[in-house]
Amino acid sequence: MFTSLSGKSVLVTGASTGIGLGVARQFALQGARVLITARNAGRIEAVAAGLRAEGLQVQGLASDVADAASVKALIHTVEEIHGGLDVLCCNAGIFPNSPLEDLAEAEWDQVMATNAKGTFLCVQAALPLLRRAEYGRVILTSSITGPVTGSPGWVHYGASKAAQLGFMRTAAIELARDGITVNAVMPGNIVTEGFLDVAADYQAGVAASIPLKRLGTSADVASAVLFFASREAGYITGQSLIIDGGQVLPESLQALV
Ligand code: NAP
Repeated sequence: MFTSLSGKSVLVTGASTGIGLGVARQFALQGARVLITARNAGRIEAVAAGLRAEGLQVQGLASDVADAASVKALIHTVEEIHGGLDVLCCNAGIFPNSPLEDLAEAEWDQVMATNAKGTFLCVQAALPLLRRAEYGRVILTSSITGPVTGSPGWVHYGASKAAQLGFMRTAAIELARDGITVNAVMPGNIVTEGFLDVAADYQAGVAASIPLKRLGTSADVASAVLFFASREAGYITGQSLIIDGGQVLPESLQALV
């Protein structure tokens, strides 16, 4: 039913671990040519080498999405390597936990710079390449936290994830004339390296609050990302899709029995 993604040029940010790695792997398994990026050069290159050893077309590039010069250089390298870009996945994100009363201004700035400004910088820099694509696709990794739910210790994170959706809605309108769609996935609690840093009792509490009774996987999120990237999703833009096992649905604990 879906047109093949084979040969498409895909860039996934924040892809040395977690959701980004899962998304990159799924694109590569469909035959896409995938570039993955993260700050730690040694790690992103090692991850890419591992995927190539599985026969996948993946290359690793070091960059910091919070730094405009680094993003510009990244997109320049993408053009040099692939000659263009069909799909941009703005996935890089950080989620340090700090209660509001202790939250330092520098931590607020760092989270906003990575999660919100990083999205803007990557989309803006990639525009010339996406405009030349047969059909350009931008997929943001937002979250349920912020746009839909609240979670103690994550006021800055929630604000950054809501900011991504505000960005998305106007970007979708501005880029529609170029045939570029801009959509977002909103994961619930997904088991990733980053999430495993969160306290074990928090993880257990979350799993119990999910109607489908399990935490999500990177592959769960990747399926939705690949859908938004497909030719067939071309009439969908400025939209978001929650992937959370039903976590936002219960109105009371009784709903979970
Ligand atoms: P993760 O396992 O901690 O991975 C984060 C990735 O982003 C790493 O590759 C990291 O590598 C990279 N990164 C961090 N800061 C960066 C920067 N400034 N520039 C470039 N790369 C950067 O995180 P995850 O759980 O997969 O989360 C990925 C995305 O999903 C985030 O946007 C997060 O908000 C969102 N999300 C996650 C969950 C969840 O439950 N896990 C739920 C909802 C939404 P380096 O450190 O080497 O840069």
